[in-house]
Amino acid sequence: MSANGIPEDVLMNTELIKDLQTVAKDAALLHGVLMRTKEHPNSSEVVTYAPFTLFPSPVPKAVFLQALAVQTHFNVLVDKISQDSGFLEEALASTIAVDEFTRRLFNIYKQIQKEGRSQSIVLGLNRSDYMLDENKDGNSSLKQIEINTIAASFGGLSSRMPDVHRHILRVAGRLEESQRVLDNNPAAGLAMGLAKAWELYGSERAVVMFLVEDSQRNIFDHRYVEDELWKRNITTIRRRFENVSMTTSLDQEKRLFVDGQEVAVVYFRNGYMPQNYTSEQSWEARLLIERSLAVKCPDISTHLAGTKKVQQELARHGVLERFFPEQPQVVEQIRATFTGLYTLDMGPEGDQTVALALSKPEQFVLKPQREGGGNNLYGSEMYQVLEVVKESPERTAYILMDKIQPKPLHNYLLRRDSPLELSSCVSELGVFGAYVRQGKDMVMNECVGHLLRTKSTEHADGGVAAGVAVLDNPLLF
Ligand code: ADP
Ligand code: MG
Repeated sequence: MSANGIPEDVLMNTELIKDLQTVAKDAALLHGVLMRTKEHPNSSEVVTYAPFTLFPSPVPKAVFLQALAVQTHFNVLVDKISQDSGFLEEALASTIAVDEFTRRLFNIYKQIQKEGRSQSIVLGLNRSDYMLDENKDGNSSLKQIEINTIAASFGGLSSRMPDVHRHILRVAGRLEESQRVLDNNPAAGLAMGLAKAWELYGSERAVVMFLVEDSQRNIFDHRYVEDELWKRNITTIRRRFENVSMTTSLDQEKRLFVDGQEVAVVYFRNGYMPQNYTSEQSWEARLLIERSLAVKCPDISTHLAGTKKVQQELARHGVLERFFPEQPQVVEQIRATFTGLYTLDMGPEGDQTVALALSKPEQFVLKPQREGGGNNLYGSEMYQVLEVVKESPERTAYILMDKIQPKPLHNYLLRRDSPLELSSCVSELGVFGAYVRQGKDMVMNECVGHLLRTKSTEHADGGVAAGVAVLDNPLLF
């Protein structure tokens, strides 16, 4: 690792590393960095550790603080976008013409626009992700990968990671580094947002409902947030998104009921991929929930505000100013985290983007409107796809983005049944935001913690759930 992390002589000390990996895996189990197995994704009889790095990764302090400082502005930005129907409609017009999934989400949005919202409380739990782009002079600058406004994960498990690395470093004799591992508790912060929304909803008996996937390997990540709610005597229930249509209903006041229980807050930990909507019933359930009086996290407009097309439109000249007309410093702070983002809309600007990407495919990433990892296109694959779609409106399903190039560092990635080997890695820093608005009043707007994920440079794409990235902690320098 070095570059102000763990010195190379420690990394190369194979005897020490072998011992440490055993200590490390036990520490992960001991501190609850857990995952169900791929063989038994719905059973807790036998579980394993969630993959993680042996050592924390160095992150420059200034850049880390910059990411935390801009988070409350991103919260406000997302919230403002969600209330700006003119902007959302214009930004997504070309996308929904060709992308069916986004179109269906958008149709729900339009339907609600027509009928009027029934709930004025908005709860946003998001995570803004960044990589550090290495400049020619060797410094690195914070560049946003994306903002996740639905089902942003790993707030739970990342709350348990500091103690794991502290312990490993102590055993390795690196006491000074051990003391520098930062506290982190997004689980508590996310729960604070959920609890606030629940409280404003104003019914003691009503519950917080987590809508989850069929295969629940990452359940412990949710459990930490649930646990924080139970500690506040807030009842939480889990329901599979796929089944929820069968058991939900609205009463005359549009209160949402599931299996006879009133729901104050619906927390989507699912519903962000086309595959999550297994039938028409899933779409009907999404609409029913959206119509209800329950607080939705996210509501449909906040979900749409997190699309990659919106991200690209935000980078256009003058667009941030539209949302922060009197706040040039806020605009400046947000814009500083943007890298090059380019439209593929039909017309001369989009044609230019195509030419740019085809001329230097290694310098860009082609992104469709998808979440969950593994959907982006790079290098020759991107080239091939662009060659096929470049003349047709199909290209507007994508956006183009500069490829962020972080400086690789060395670390060991600990993953069940994987050999112990030194890997060349890059990290992605996520920052969690939580906000609650009631009508016009922001009653909560906070940055509630961070997530560092690290992956081998062999992989261009993919997160922890996809089996590519692993959990980590930043070691500031
Ligand atoms: P998803 O919604 O699928 O998570 P992301 O935009 O986060 O989509 O991209 C997935 C992964 O691809 C990221 O975690 C990151 O590793 C990589 N990636 C995305 N955009 C870029 C970029 N501009 N430069 C370098 N890597 C990127
Ligand atoms: Mg992502």
